[in-house]
Amino acid sequence: MADTVKKQVFIMGSGPAGSTAALYSSRANLDTIVVEGGQPGGQLTITTDVENYPGFIDGIMGPELVDIFKKQAARFGTKYEFDSIKKVDLSKRPFALTGEKNTYESDVIIIASGAKARLLDIPSETELMGYGVSACATCDGFFFKEKELVVVGGGDTAMEEAMFLTKFASKVSIVHRRDEFRASKIMQDRAEKNDKITFVWNSVVEEILGSKEDGVKGVKLKNTQNGELSEYPCQGVFLAIGHIPNSSVFEGQLEMDENVYIITKPDSTQTNVPGVFASGDVQDHVFRQAVTAAGTGCMAALEAEKFIDINNA
Ligand code: NDP
Repeated sequence: MADTVKKQVFIMGSGPAGSTAALYSSRANLDTIVVEGGQPGGQLTITTDVENYPGFIDGIMGPELVDIFKKQAARFGTKYEFDSIKKVDLSKRPFALTGEKNTYESDVIIIASGAKARLLDIPSETELMGYGVSACATCDGFFFKEKELVVVGGGDTAMEEAMFLTKFASKVSIVHRRDEFRASKIMQDRAEKNDKITFVWNSVVEEILGSKEDGVKGVKLKNTQNGELSEYPCQGVFLAIGHIPNSSVFEGQLEMDENVYIITKPDSTQTNVPGVFASGDVQDHVFRQAVTAAGTGCMAALEAEKFIDINNA
């Protein structure tokens, strides 16, 4: 029989948003639990150098930053637990959450479950995932020494992943569906200056060629201007086409936008259900930075504290 864990504040997710919320909440003497799901620490754990989190002059590795966040929150009494939440009931307080291991009851919920990599939605991508197709350069780049790789996407992630992959690969081609990048100027400049990186404009990947036995052999590209199809040889494909918020467990109970980002009130992390707050990438499709996630995590905890005070929860 699963245990029922009762807490004042339940935080879902242990990235910068979740751990900052936990730091503020436990430091305010609220009994706080953070439940870490399938990717403890969130997307920072699959990032290498973080150069833009204030306080680290020389940058810091993503997993190390996550670890520091957790230790700092734990110092004030936050309990971290590995579990995967499958069901929530927000219809009454205390709220009820059902995980694979335990059930939970809490007066407030802070959702900080982040986002995950978007995929192209073609059959060959699923079939060859882990056999030459990846959505995480830092996880899998090492396996592609002296190989020719394709990175799909035109944002900062695509630039960052492509540059990281040049540490291993002999050539990296960034395939983008338009003729200009969405990525910031500084990231584009760095990619352009890298001799190992080439650019394939106005192209989408229609199919990834290869097999589980032999790995990836190339991609079938479609030119978005004239519809022409061509084959482009490569031995690995890295997808860097954005993210999808991890909000599905709340579907039907919380208001979301058309891309299933949880909607919060202006200048607030309050959702449409009083006592349920959302912070970080699960509600932010604009900034999506570690520091902004941490900022909204702080806001969520301050709002949770006020909510508990007012409602005597
Ligand atoms: P973005 O949403 O910024 O970019 C996604 C890219 O993928 C776009 O170029 C988009 O094309 C393309 N794309 C989306 N769907 C498809 C598809 N189905 N087929 C082909 N191409 C597709 O996501 P990122 O992950 O790059 O960045 C997210 C946020 O994180 C941004 O705010 C970014 O600045 C930040 N970031 C910052 C970093 C840093 O500062 N070190 C590192 C990484 C990310 P199109 O442009 O045509 O829409």
